[in-house]
Amino acid sequence: MEIKDFINAFGVEPNYIFSAPARVNLIGEHIDYNGGHVLPCAISLYTEALVGKRNDENIRLYSENTKTEVIANINEIEYKPEQGWANYPLGIFYILRSKGYHLPFGLDIYYSSNIPLASGLSSSASILDLTAYICNEIYTLELDRKDIAKIALESERKFNGLNCGVMDQAIIAMAKKNTCLYLDTFRFHHRYIPLNLLDYSIVVIKTNKPRVLTESKYNERVEECQKALKLLKKYYIINNLCDLKPKDLPRIKSLLNDDLLYRRVKHCVTEEDRVNKFVLALEDNDITELGRLLNESHESLKKDYEVTGEYLDTICEAARKVAVGARMTGAGFSGCAIALVKTKKIPELSRVVAKEYKEKLGLDSETIAINIVDGPKGEILG
Ligand code: ADP
Ligand code: MG
Repeated sequence: MEIKDFINAFGVEPNYIFSAPARVNLIGEHIDYNGGHVLPCAISLYTEALVGKRNDENIRLYSENTKTEVIANINEIEYKPEQGWANYPLGIFYILRSKGYHLPFGLDIYYSSNIPLASGLSSSASILDLTAYICNEIYTLELDRKDIAKIALESERKFNGLNCGVMDQAIIAMAKKNTCLYLDTFRFHHRYIPLNLLDYSIVVIKTNKPRVLTESKYNERVEECQKALKLLKKYYIINNLCDLKPKDLPRIKSLLNDDLLYRRVKHCVTEEDRVNKFVLALEDNDITELGRLLNESHESLKKDYEVTGEYLDTICEAARKVAVGARMTGAGFSGCAIALVKTKKIPELSRVVAKEYKEKLGLDSETIAINIVDGPKGEILG
């Protein structure tokens, strides 16, 4: 993205440049809607935006990714299917207006992202947080990073109608370089954990498989967990499934007397336990234990929670031939996996996974080396 692209799109010069990263969740999958702890970090793939102030009330949005432009009046924003992707950024203006924030003039915003869209790296939270951050800076709203996450979450839920947890919006808004965020998804408490991986790295591996089943299966799992929670609340004083402990599992099994529901609960309870063990292993720089926990998490998501699918299973199995651990990240079925691998072995990992994935499923995978980075940033153009 260059300044001349903005000028070509809007016929004027931009005043600012901003960016927000993508994210991966290291561990704690499918428990952000079960009151669990998650451990995401921001990665060095970005949504960038060039922004110019306008003299009228119009919001003019252009995406280099989709090559489409949408215009709306800042005081008359509504969700419209034909606005497509632009419903994400427009939702931020809508939510801010509905909370009574003063947005006295319009903006031209030119977005460009090198995050693979709809691949489980949260391009949606990236563009939402970025837009909220832009508004905060340009309209001097005095929101802190947590407020930005909350505005973005409200926007994705209320305006875009997706019943998502708080993880994605929180990590992208609050990220700090070389740390992951230990986030209590029920209380929205947080702590930064340094990510000291010695001579190891986290890599992202793309399945390059268009999304299959994700939304419907996601909602199905949410409902199954709600059903199990309702039943178990008769016997335990709990707010969420993740309040239960591994030692409770034998009794839970007999109380539920339903293999499917039991396996869903077992995943939540053991995954919460793994997140806490992962934090301890990070503090001890215990790479072997980190790898073991990543593998165990994937197995639990495969056998008990049943959200991995053959694409992610094949990638993770192949990756483990070189990496100390690998697991799916995000909602599952397709999207991306992560692996913990010796930094100098990344090219070997990439080769082994690409070969095996192609042979077994006929698709090309892609291994992306990433850094762990800060949240949104911006500067005035000189
Ligand atoms: P994910 O968040 O995992 O990438 P989602 O389906 O939640 O997947 O969000 C992807 C959607 O977000 C895209 O289909 C598009 O509507 C929107 N989006 C995100 N970033 C951009 C961008 N730079 N340009 C246009 N649309 C974007
Ligand atoms: Mg998303």
